[in-house]
Amino acid sequence: MSYSAFHHVDGVLHAEGVSAIALADQFGTPLYVYSRAALTHAYEAYARACAQRRASVHVAVKANSNLAVLNVFARLGAGFDIVSGGELARVLAAGGKPANIVFSGVGKSADEMREALAAGVKCFNVESIPELDRLDEVARAVGKKAPVSLRVNPDVDPKTHPYISTGLKANKFGVAFDEARAAYRRAATMPHLDVIGIDCHIGSQITEVSPYLDAVDKLLELVEQIEADGTMLHHIDVGGGLGITYDDETPPDTTLFVRTLLDRIEARGHGHREVFFEPGRSVTGNAGMLLTRVEFLKPGAEKNFAIVDAAMNDLARPAMYQAFHAIEPVTSRPDAPRVYDVVGPICESGDWLGRDRSLAIAPGDLLAIRSAGAYGFVMSSNYNTRPRAAEVMVDGDCAYLVRARETVRELFASETLLPE
Ligand SMILES: *Cc1c(COP(=O)(O)O)cnc(C)c1O
Repeated sequence: MSYSAFHHVDGVLHAEGVSAIALADQFGTPLYVYSRAALTHAYEAYARACAQRRASVHVAVKANSNLAVLNVFARLGAGFDIVSGGELARVLAAGGKPANIVFSGVGKSADEMREALAAGVKCFNVESIPELDRLDEVARAVGKKAPVSLRVNPDVDPKTHPYISTGLKANKFGVAFDEARAAYRRAATMPHLDVIGIDCHIGSQITEVSPYLDAVDKLLELVEQIEADGTMLHHIDVGGGLGITYDDETPPDTTLFVRTLLDRIEARGHGHREVFFEPGRSVTGNAGMLLTRVEFLKPGAEKNFAIVDAAMNDLARPAMYQAFHAIEPVTSRPDAPRVYDVVGPICESGDWLGRDRSLAIAPGDLLAIRSAGAYGFVMSSNYNTRPRAAEVMVDGDCAYLVRARETVRELFASETLLPE
């Protein structure tokens, strides 16, 4: 079932009850716009599918870490998946409960481990033996036992972009499947670790269920071996990665996805274990758009360019992954469309947002870059000394500024000149 809080009213694109023209007038462009209803709808699909089952949802903070966004999820009772001490601080500031946080990531520092132990997170998803050693040591020093699961690399092909596939042997993530049993034996001997689960995360923007089923089957095989070795596992964390529709992709819907995995785990005799989901993109991606204004139209012999005021520093995915984002005018014109590359003002040929788009536009027009709620603002930078965009959350007929636009002064406020 698809749901969009972004729709046209009398020919003008709206976010819920607020017109994109009004948003751009009030807050300027480039502007990230999130819909509270869309965030809620996407999260609730997971929560409802998990209700009455032994399953829980941990929203992946890295997809969108704005405090207001995290707070919407926290109010709905979400848990969180974090990958840094910074994200831990954000979740706590947004009202998330430490007991519902899982801490993932390949390179946790001793400081980050200490902070997470002090906060009392639910589980550390550990990705290597040296990380087990470090965590055991840090936990010993603070007199605690660290709850641990090992991220296992099930070596399945998620059939997605190579930059966002993480569960293959050649990836930096997780413990190799063939070494996992030994790693669990090793972890069981560490006095300051409490081994409670197993986890995987096989990639992102995955549009089929089959790679997940393959991963779950392999994980369950391993769980049986680990328990035969005497370590009891309370939970199975299947990670995140469910895809969304950017263009014409047809990912499984959330309810079907969750139920299919839970049913498989139950059918294989593991229904007594808690199952964790870690969705990022699928709960935030289509709940956000990036509004931008056309600065110039530049027709050319080979290509026409629409130069807009958003750039690769605002939305890195096209430059980074050749990702497709739908781009549509906020109001439509009757003129015949032309084919444009939609590009930003940054001095890089890689600074494009969309290629070969058929658009009827004029300078000054507003464009909406859709599906920008995940890996959008969070990946933005200040390249070319461009202040990062403002972020707004729409809730019904109201729009709230949830992150002010940066000022140029702020960008170099912490820099200093050499002495005379
Ligand atoms: C990035 C990440 C997620 C979320 O991935 P999505 O593709 O955004 O759903 C979940 N778990 C871990 C460990 C991650 O690194």
